[in-house]
Amino acid sequence: MARLEPETGVLRIGHRPERDKRVTSHVALVARAFGASYFFLSDICDLGVMRTLVSVEERWGRGIKHFSCGLPHMRYIEGWKSLGGKVVHLTMYGIPLEEGIEKCRELRKPLLIVVGAEKVPPDVYEEADLNLSVGNQPHSEVAALAVFLDRLYNGEELYLTYEDARAVIEPSEKGKKVRLMEEEEDEL
Ligand code: SAM
Repeated sequence: MARLEPETGVLRIGHRPERDKRVTSHVALVARAFGASYFFLSDICDLGVMRTLVSVEERWGRGIKHFSCGLPHMRYIEGWKSLGGKVVHLTMYGIPLEEGIEKCRELRKPLLIVVGAEKVPPDVYEEADLNLSVGNQPHSEVAALAVFLDRLYNGEELYLTYEDARAVIEPSEKGKKVRLMEEEEDEL
């Protein structure tokens, strides 16, 4: 799979297992489908979320090179920075998207994109190299992440192909057309 520039990772913070399973799974799937290479879930390992990501990766191809869960959010942020990357926190209070995307490009570094759940701790605002908004209205981490990645990669991420995919969709005007790779056919 061709990689996009700059390389990105997504850090989901504040996950509450009793109510955020679906949203956090969608954050992970959007990260994968919109071109991110890494997915991190802070503070807790929710196996339901990780299983969803793994099963999508097994069938549709490996987009996420590495994922991790359970460490405090600051460990992921500090770890990313210590490897030379920069941190972008998506929040409705941040600078406008267009201005922020320009700054992201100028940084020329791998970007860790942080999205929250309910209340984001102040240290994230402080440690982020950029606090960036996708409009100044409250909406959703899933929407904010998708719009941000799509603008960053100018839509190129939508046409990535995965060499190890076991199933590939053939776009069609009606119905569902899926080409199965040999291995997948054998298992049917
Ligand atoms: N009060 C929160 C805030 O600081 O943005 C809104 C919480 S919202 C339910 C959960 C997450 O969605 C936020 O932590 C943020 O990452 C993302 N989000 C929501 N609205 C956003 C916006 N307009 N721009 C960027 N990110 C947004």
